[in-house]
Amino acid sequence: NISPLRAQIRQLDDAAINRIAAGEVVERPASAVKELVENSIDAGARRIDITVAEGGKRLIRVEDDGCGISRSDLPLALSRHATSKIDGSDLLNIHTFGFRGEALPSLGAVGRLRITSRIAGEDAFEVDVAGGRMTSVRPAAGRPGTVVELRDLFYATPARLKFMRTERAELQAVSDVIKRLAMAEPYLRISLTDATETPRILFSVEPHSGPPLEALSRRLRAVLGRDFAENALAIDAEREGLHMTGFAALPTYSRGSAVQQFMFVNGRPVKDKMLIGALRGAYMDFLSRDRHPAAVLFIDCDPQLVDVNVHPAKSEVRFRDPAVARGLIVSGLRHALAGAGHRASTTVAG
Ligand code: ADP
Ligand code: MG
Repeated sequence: NISPLRAQIRQLDDAAINRIAAGEVVERPASAVKELVENSIDAGARRIDITVAEGGKRLIRVEDDGCGISRSDLPLALSRHATSKIDGSDLLNIHTFGFRGEALPSLGAVGRLRITSRIAGEDAFEVDVAGGRMTSVRPAAGRPGTVVELRDLFYATPARLKFMRTERAELQAVSDVIKRLAMAEPYLRISLTDATETPRILFSVEPHSGPPLEALSRRLRAVLGRDFAENALAIDAEREGLHMTGFAALPTYSRGSAVQQFMFVNGRPVKDKMLIGALRGAYMDFLSRDRHPAAVLFIDCDPQLVDVNVHPAKSEVRFRDPAVARGLIVSGLRHALAGAGHRASTTVAG
């Protein structure tokens, strides 16, 4: 009996491990862009310029003016489970986007990756990875900060390549990711250029100034448009250690789909069923079934009250007490909406 299951157990090599992990972290160009831009934000960048070609399938390039990576850290940045962001003992206390040390090695396993980086006051260095194999680090030219270039995503995994959508759909997804992160970081300058043919700037926002809610309001005007900004109520509510801020649109500004629902937990963009459900619940009395509320909401709390380590793409979260989060959203928004309704009717009456 030579069942394959009875064969000897072997350790997978790093290239295979990285390719498997990459399947979870990098689903499509937009997920690669998300990982790279989050790295730039974690590096303290004030400016991030993203360039893509063919919806990110041929090229993704993310350039930042962040802290840079030292010569000796470059190979480490590309190894699995190597991160500068946590010391490993404290998974409950996470203040950065990254912490798994998986993005760069995964990207190096599914595309041709080049990282060029320079710490201010030092020289620039660069390294290439393809098929999981890394070149040695060599001197390069560059400004302080980091440039990550990812070419030919999934060239080594044809099965995954087949699942990619049209250039247009991938570009749309990339743009959505960038806009979402732009909302979370109103003080950041960020741009997206399509370089498939003649380079064309698709999206660009200047840093906004002023106190957080004011800067956010200007940023939302720039990203979502004047119409949203002029129909949005400022939200500020608190419940048992959870703090919610942001803007929620009047029911009269509702959409035919859920395209303008953006939620962030401790600054991290999330797509979480429970939170989206709470948002719907808050508007239940104000909207008909086929209409969808528009809102940009930030929930902030002690990192101990929420687990972000639920999903490799980190888009789901788990609150220690989900009922509190739900209650905060439902009552905070209802209160604001009822207040607005009341103000509107007194205005009309007066
Ligand atoms: P993680 O973000 O989870 O730490 P990554 O694989 O995304 O894992 O990155 C590995 C490490 O490389 C980071 O911890 C950081 O030290 C470094 N790094 C990645 N991107 C940048 C960047 N744009 N600027 C500075 N350092 C970076
Ligand atoms: Mg990262």
